[in-house]
Amino acid sequence: MAVETRASAFQTAQRRFDAAADVIGLSDDARRGLRDVKRELTVHFPVRMDDASVRVFTGWRVQHNISRGPAKGGIRYHPNINLDLVKALAMLMTWKCAAVGLPYGGSKGAVACDPNKLSMSELEHLTRRYATEIAILIGPEKDIPAPDMGTNPQVMAWIMDTISMHSGHSVTASVTGKPVDVGGSEGRIDAPGRGATYLTLEGLKYLHVDEETPTVAVQGYGQVGRSTARLLAEAGVKVVAVSDSRGGVYNPNGLDLGALEEHRQVRGGVTGFKKADNVTNDEIIELPVTVLVPAAVQDQITGENAGRIRARLITEGANAAISPEADPILHDRNIFVVPDIIANAGGVIVSYFEWVQDLQAFFWEEEEINTKLHHVITRAFYEILHTSVNKRIDMRLAAYALAVQRVANATTVRGIYP
Ligand code: GLU
Repeated sequence: MAVETRASAFQTAQRRFDAAADVIGLSDDARRGLRDVKRELTVHFPVRMDDASVRVFTGWRVQHNISRGPAKGGIRYHPNINLDLVKALAMLMTWKCAAVGLPYGGSKGAVACDPNKLSMSELEHLTRRYATEIAILIGPEKDIPAPDMGTNPQVMAWIMDTISMHSGHSVTASVTGKPVDVGGSEGRIDAPGRGATYLTLEGLKYLHVDEETPTVAVQGYGQVGRSTARLLAEAGVKVVAVSDSRGGVYNPNGLDLGALEEHRQVRGGVTGFKKADNVTNDEIIELPVTVLVPAAVQDQITGENAGRIRARLITEGANAAISPEADPILHDRNIFVVPDIIANAGGVIVSYFEWVQDLQAFFWEEEEINTKLHHVITRAFYEILHTSVNKRIDMRLAAYALAVQRVANATTVRGIYP
């Protein structure tokens, strides 16, 4: 029997890079330097658990590229993570930062663990030890972590504190996504969802959607999904369906998000919400809506279900929610995709603002942050849209082409040392 061999996450990332390199006619020499990661650190470290036993955890910090500035990227705590995926996510950060014009390279970190099964004190010990293990790589001018799946502002505060203890003074700019009390930025929590909202509204404008009230289904009700749903509703888009890992709810007349949030707080999930029908996470993808926001995990829109999607616009909130096989199908079906690399870039854009505020010890108000976020992300959107239209390629390939060109330019002008 023939065994189907699926490309690994990093091979997929490399393929996407190759396609962009073809579009801009990148030389083989230039490709070789960008196709692989620059540094990869694997650490195995012990943590004393609450019952006094010792468990050894494995973690990573990978820097893909630092030609345009310090490496930047989140830290993920998840049971199903490995070096291959961390490398792919690190490479994605390089392109994401370049696509929106931030002076950063790309990196990613992770610890293989299930944070929901750890107590607060175990989580703190794990975090402080992991931060110590990767401290040789991170710092404000070197590599700046941020939250990702399974981590949050509290975890960032512990990392910042650990780095600061080693330095003997507070190094607030060593991490972003911190609580506001310790040098975090206003607006950072909502930033990925706010960026996704701005771009969804630009996408609707570009598509001349003439429905009176466009509708949206949001798959995934974590930080990105919740903010996007709330902000889109505030902007007049009707939220008809949302889901979390247990399943979702759908009401074609719109969901009352306030009541839904109360239900979620009590029940720990959205399913079972009155005045809506339950739907599965597969069904939510295929609902008749104007906009679909996959904001859960990777590989939700695939070669298998892309042909059945009824949305006109997809805002890819979660990294790699759309598999490479789905891209051409969506393109042929004229479904407009705002790809992950800009759709959720609001997070890293406001991380950049946080880093700048920490470095200058001068903090901005939320309104200023949101205005600047709007400027940076909308400018990137139109640059990418023009490339997409001029070169007749989809938005993802256009974003990659622009990003890869910027990183290649930086590499060329810097030259090869020595
Ligand atoms: N983890 C987020 C991402 O994948 C944010 C990274 C950051 O702010 O550095 O974009």
